[in-house]
Amino acid sequence: MTLQQAIIHFSDADNCIKYMVDLRWPDGVVVCPTCGRNDVSWLSNQRKWQCKSNHAKRQFSAKVGTIFEDSPLGLDKWILASWMIANCKNGVSSYEIARNIGVTQKSAWFMLHRMRLVMDTTETDAKLGGSEGGPVEVDEAFVGGEPKNWHNSKRIAHHKAVRSERVRTYQNAFTHKTAVIGMLDRESRQIRAKVVPNVRRETLQNEILDIIEFGSKVYTDQAVTYKSLKDKYVHDTVNHANQYVNGQVHTNSIENFWSLMKRNLKGTYVAVEPFHLDRYLAEQCFRFNTSRTHNDETRCAKLFSQVLGKRLTYAELTGKEAGASF
Ligand SMILES: [Zn+2]
Repeated sequence: MTLQQAIIHFSDADNCIKYMVDLRWPDGVVVCPTCGRNDVSWLSNQRKWQCKSNHAKRQFSAKVGTIFEDSPLGLDKWILASWMIANCKNGVSSYEIARNIGVTQKSAWFMLHRMRLVMDTTETDAKLGGSEGGPVEVDEAFVGGEPKNWHNSKRIAHHKAVRSERVRTYQNAFTHKTAVIGMLDRESRQIRAKVVPNVRRETLQNEILDIIEFGSKVYTDQAVTYKSLKDKYVHDTVNHANQYVNGQVHTNSIENFWSLMKRNLKGTYVAVEPFHLDRYLAEQCFRFNTSRTHNDETRCAKLFSQVLGKRLTYAELTGKEAGASF
């Protein structure tokens, strides 16, 4: 299916519900999310189910218990937005989403952040490397900061607006850049990336220990922060000053990932809090990790299979109340 075909297919509300039912209840038996009864009745005029037991939230839609639960937007819009974010190689802006599915830019921005949260599988991701995996490239990068040519008054305004407490926790006090660490298993083509509060040896090593199996081959540059990896891994380094590629020992793949990420953020990240960066990274990782194993249709389905049990409110996202519902 192409995006065009998807738009036609999902303009039918029943197709949307069927899509959701197939993913949530693959055996076709719809289960009450409150009590677990599996003999619920379908109320066709409301496009909802009703549980036969008498309890609160007896009636439920296909969105209940998912990231879409408290959204007034229809499943058709959610499916199309998800299709776009899952499959647009270079990312998609809230303006493009807004134009294509007919919502406000603010709604689209909120949708994008919710889907990015859905893309985040940090909690359940398998470790990299190990006996099955290949060598794992590890590298850190710095994202954001403020344009050098900003006038002082703009700088001060920016700091007032953006550098809240939670921002200061992550940004470097002098450059205002946010540090991220990335690890890429060259055999399985799986990548993990996350925001770190600093690039001190202990911080980076704890992340590495968390994500890479003991005994794996690990390639890094020669930064001192990676010096004691030899205890747990087969560690090789590349010296960027003298040589770019030392046979198999290089970190080119993860560096390519960083440049793609920076291009996709298109400099707009300047105005975005580091608080959101983990979700942007989750988006980039999701597309990278599914690029060889999925097509547009299965990639969108994979994204949809991750919507259960997740929640992100506007207040959590922005630190302020939503005002009008959207
Ligand atoms: Zn029930």
